[in-house]
Amino acid sequence: MNEVALDLERLRQEIGEVPDPEVPVLTIADLGVLRSVEEVAGRVVVTITPTYSGCPAMSHIAERIAAVLDMHAVEGEVRTVFSPAWTTDWMSDDGRRKLTEYGIAPPHRAPAGDVLVAIRPPVHCPRCGSADTRLVSEFGSTACKAHYSCRSCSEPFDYFKEL
Ligand SMILES: [Zn+2]
Repeated sequence: MNEVALDLERLRQEIGEVPDPEVPVLTIADLGVLRSVEEVAGRVVVTITPTYSGCPAMSHIAERIAAVLDMHAVEGEVRTVFSPAWTTDWMSDDGRRKLTEYGIAPPHRAPAGDVLVAIRPPVHCPRCGSADTRLVSEFGSTACKAHYSCRSCSEPFDYFKEL
């Protein structure tokens, strides 16, 4: 371990900038995947919670985080925690805005508490904002997205499914 005092806040910011391989416009901080950056007995422990289970992107993300630690000559490790499970509610408002600008409708917030029947609000078209949209397929370009089309501007788009 080197003698340089660790600037954990700066490390957290840099690590938070690691992009999500599936939706590169989003960082792991936007997604809420990055849980914590802590110093434990002189080592930096970065904790992440995977998004959709079995997401192959996670090993890629862990490598990118390791590269950041390496760049700062910091000894540490990346840990994954699965509980509590990640939900799309962890996505930041900034992340939702970036998604919309990218042309993907952001996930709805999950209703709180025990829900018997959920009435889903309409998915708004990220291009024109119209709520007059139609589900084309539950699976879009990846399993976490559904494919929609807009009746107003007739453009197809992806909806980042809530989880
Ligand atoms: Zn539209």
